[in-house]
Order: sequence, then C-alpha cells, then structure tokens
Amino acid sequence: LFVAFEGGEGSGKTTQSRLLAIWLRDQGYDVVQTREPGATKVGMRLRAILLDAAERGLSARSEALLYAADRAEHVEKVIRPALYRGSIVVTDRYVDSSLAYQGAGRVLDPEDVSKVNAWATGGLVPHLTVLIDTPPEVGLTRLGGAADRIESEPLEFHHRVRKEFRALAAAAPERYLVVDGTLPQETITRQIHDRVREILPD
Ligand code: C5P
Ligand code: MG
Repeated sequence: LFVAFEGGEGSGKTTQSRLLAIWLRDQGYDVVQTREPGATKVGMRLRAILLDAAERGLSARSEALLYAADRAEHVEKVIRPALYRGSIVVTDRYVDSSLAYQGAGRVLDPEDVSKVNAWATGGLVPHLTVLIDTPPEVGLTRLGGAADRIESEPLEFHHRVRKEFRALAAAAPERYLVVDGTLPQETITRQIHDRVREILPD
C-alpha cells in the first residue's frame, strides 16, 4: 500500500504523515515513512541544491529535472523495495508536487512535467493521495519567519500551486482524499484514518 501526502507550505503534511505512520505501526503494520525531496543519499544532495537560496537562478526546466531525478532515486532505492517487502509506504510529497510547483507554479507545460515524472517513477502511482488543502495565506502564516526559497515566492505562485493540487484530486476522486487543512489537527487525523481503514490490507 502506497500513500502520498500533498499540499502547500505549512499545510501539515509532515505532521499528518507521521501520525499516520504511528497509527499504522500500532496496528502491527510495517511502515516506511519517507519524504521528498531528499530521502536518499543522492537525494539529500539534490535537496540541498534545490532548497539553497543561492540557487535561485535555477531554470524552471532544470528544477523540474532535478526533482524528477530525486524522485527516480526515491522510487528505485526506497519506495519500490519497501512495497516489494510488503511494507506500507507513506510519503510526504510525490509527483503531484512537481505538477503543482514546477508545472503550475513555474508555468511549465503540465504534459511535459507529467511525462518526465511518469518516466522517472516507472509509472508508480499511489493507491491514495491525501491532499491537505490549505489557503496559502494560512499555511505561510503558520510557517512564520521560516521562509525558504519557495516560501518567498509571491502569493500568486502559491495560489496556482493550490489550484493545481485541487484539480488533480478532482480529476481522479477515487485515488484522493481531500481534507480541509484549516480544520483542527485531530479532525484531519480522524478523516485520514477513516479513509485509510477502507484500503488497509489484512
Ligand atoms: O516539503 P517541504 O516543505 O520540505 O519542501 C521543501 C520545499 O521544496 C518547499 O518550499 C516546497 O515548496 C518546495 N518544493 C518544490 N517542488 C517540489 C517539491 C517541493 O518547489 N516538487
Ligand atoms: Mg513539511
């Protein structure tokens, strides 16, 4: 079982993916909790390049390719081996982040970003994607001063990102759970449990 968390800055993906992993382990499942970018050795170096404020001049295409390279490593070295062993994989960000940030955010052709990522992942699609849908104004305020490269993008960028995440979920509702990121954390956690319970292996 492969579950991805997606959403904008400060939406609570990291918190909720951790809580889901704990809840699943309590039930005896073997869980690999992971994240993008930076889950592998090479990925950590790519993450440093991607998030370094000094790299602001990176072209949109290079950025998309480096995220795709990080994802290819992630799938081949971490996600597929874990799924093969029968573990549940919970990832903080996956392909939708590239469609939203590099596609909609950086205004690259969504078809191109989609193709590059289908190739990078060998077509691996999550069984469930949890979109924690949060207005950028709310998410960015939660992060406070901890602004890195992307968080310093104009609000319009973050609105395009949010719109794309929502469009992806709307296009394949059976593979998504969209939760309102402004709800209390416990409420969001409960909604996630209710949905994941339906797809848990025996
Ligand atoms: O998930 P996390 O907040 O650690 O992501 C780090 C940064 O990378 C964020 O600012 C996020 O917006 C950015 N990012 C991106 N494109 C992706 C994934 C993450 O710009 N495909
Ligand atoms: Mg996070």
